[in-house]
Amino acid sequence: MRVETKLAQIGVGRERTTGAISFPIYASTAYQHPGLGESTGFDYTRTANPTRSVLEQAIADLEGGAAGFACSSGMAAIQTIMGLFSQGDHLIVSLDLYGGTYRLFQQVLSRYGLSFSYVDFRQPEQLVEAIRTHPNTRAVLIETPTNPLMQVTDIRTTAKIARQHGLLTVVDNTFLTPYYQRPLTLGADIVFHSATKYLGGHNDVLAGLIVAKDEGIAEKIRFLHNSIGAVLSPLDSWLLIRGMKTLAVRMERHQANAAQIARFLLERDDVQDVFYPGLEQHDGHSILCEQASGFSGMVSFRLRSADQVPRFLRALRLISFAESLGGVESLCTYPATQTHADIPQEIREAVGVCDRLLRLSAGIEHIEDLLDDLAQALDAAKNE
Ligand SMILES: *Cc1c(COP(=O)(O)O)cnc(C)c1O
Repeated sequence: MRVETKLAQIGVGRERTTGAISFPIYASTAYQHPGLGESTGFDYTRTANPTRSVLEQAIADLEGGAAGFACSSGMAAIQTIMGLFSQGDHLIVSLDLYGGTYRLFQQVLSRYGLSFSYVDFRQPEQLVEAIRTHPNTRAVLIETPTNPLMQVTDIRTTAKIARQHGLLTVVDNTFLTPYYQRPLTLGADIVFHSATKYLGGHNDVLAGLIVAKDEGIAEKIRFLHNSIGAVLSPLDSWLLIRGMKTLAVRMERHQANAAQIARFLLERDDVQDVFYPGLEQHDGHSILCEQASGFSGMVSFRLRSADQVPRFLRALRLISFAESLGGVESLCTYPATQTHADIPQEIREAVGVCDRLLRLSAGIEHIEDLLDDLAQALDAAKNE
């Protein structure tokens, strides 16, 4: 079955007693046991819940893995995965990274004796150089494309190097979703999502998803998911299933809008750099074309001068100045003070997340309305 069909059909045919098309929200936290040592498959909702199971099986199938796990947020998903590692372990991570992931690693997990090296995976030799035997490197964790600079990592090459050194490859697939990119089919061991973004798609549910490639890792994550307990509620599981049914059509529209916005921004002399992997001149364009089937709806760009930023953001009328991405409504984010505020300024700027950088999540509105809004806000930023 093709991905569009799988998405639209999530949960259909699963509620046999009533034939409900929309799989119900099972609110019950407890389940009757037929007898001692017997179970319906559901005992206590932290361990397994029928609504959540439909979602978990759907994402496992979409990503091509053995099992899926739904968590209460993207960060909860990362925290659950990090439970695989122990004091003294070392991980190699994308240098350009979602700020919340960096904060969890540097301000929380480093206190538990885990250590992290941040490398630019566009240069695979940086990965090889960062591998240590003491403390022991255990895994590589990559975002591709990265948030917010849209840097593309070659997943196959990275996973191959990782495997040669006995390391796990973990991929944050939030930006492309399994509709465009399936890292497990390229050699990764674990994939995760902030499902708050494209998978949910409506800026109304906070969720995270994990998929493990093989049953061995799935078993360990199943234990951690239940032990840590940062699981997704039945209502939120239902909302996420509802959102995912339209993922394919939404992604096509997000992408079409983003591509036009990127081309529009390139033409503006008040815009300096445009980061969109769908542009042929983007340094990751050809790798992305080999490993994914689309570019998604995220565009970052730099204005010529930092004092245009507050004027531009205030002048936007249709596009909201807000954190987050991947919803039907277009949002514009200022990474320096929002998503990436917890990354020290010198590191942030060295990576390229400077105070002139803006990140746009193209929604599914009419493209002319989006371009009109951007044009008038850029003009207002220039003229004031
Ligand atoms: C938002 C985001 C996260 C964190 O997910 P939450 O659902 O906000 O907890 C992780 N990675 C990326 C790439 C994100 O955009």
